[in-house]
Amino acid sequence: MSKRSRVLGLLTALIAVAAGLVLPTTTAAALPAWPNLVKGQYSPIVTTAQYLLRHHGHDISADADFGGGTESAAKAFQSANGLGSDGQIGPNTWSKLIVTVQRGSNSEAVKALQVELNRYGHGLTVDGDFGGNTDAAVRSFQSSHSLDANGQVGPLTWQTLIGDFPGYPAGYSLPLPRGALARTEYDDVDHTYPAIDLPVNQVAAYAIVSGTASRISESKCGLGVNIDVGNVRYTYCHFESIAISNGPVSAGQRIGTTGASGNAQGPHLHFHIKVNGGYRCPQKYLISLYDGGVPPAPANLPTTGCFN
Ligand SMILES: [Zn+2]
Repeated sequence: MSKRSRVLGLLTALIAVAAGLVLPTTTAAALPAWPNLVKGQYSPIVTTAQYLLRHHGHDISADADFGGGTESAAKAFQSANGLGSDGQIGPNTWSKLIVTVQRGSNSEAVKALQVELNRYGHGLTVDGDFGGNTDAAVRSFQSSHSLDANGQVGPLTWQTLIGDFPGYPAGYSLPLPRGALARTEYDDVDHTYPAIDLPVNQVAAYAIVSGTASRISESKCGLGVNIDVGNVRYTYCHFESIAISNGPVSAGQRIGTTGASGNAQGPHLHFHIKVNGGYRCPQKYLISLYDGGVPPAPANLPTTGCFN
């Protein structure tokens, strides 16, 4: 072998090594499942779907509340796209609703994107304008979720954003309509043990997570609901009426109407979280939901510092 061909061979080997470094070597992470949204749910993910429906020309309000108007719009969108028009927003409907957006885009779809990014703790203004802050939030989300951090929001990024959170198989929801209470109410200290009393009367109560519901009817709690997810129990008390049977519930599903049943001094929703039977402070969990972020795992919630 001549010196020249040895050098060429070495160069070729170096190029091959370099090429190996830049070839795609990432293994695609499994995408989370699309959530299935149905009439009656109340969740930030409903707001996302509403903005996407608006993007496709359906004049509905984006208020997180999956009511009759949203269902009609979903049915119309489904018929127009060759889908079975059941009015539920599941995998096939999501796939048609999403549109690729990137820096410079300005649309209702960008508002949907901003709502989603805010669920992950990015405090973006929901204005539909895909500028520098939204671009930075997208790239940060992409790089922390093993996605190509190119700032372009296509099908993989959308599904990763909207898909189920680990540990929350169908997302989560505030326990009350967002407009029912100010943020500060979710931070209140008003018990002698870890729990919270939310001052509302005769408003809808929603399942905070998906799990197994059981109805409560006894003298202290009054009418209420337990939702069990593994060793975690979420408890609601003092309902005026219960809207579910025992069994599976989905996050955002209406489970009752608040009131003053049981041992309640005036109407309010009593709410607490227990892990393995021990009370945890629910405030950080609720504030996080109010802010559209990912709530802490209940096992990581404090057991002190949230009561008198
Ligand atoms: Zn209470």
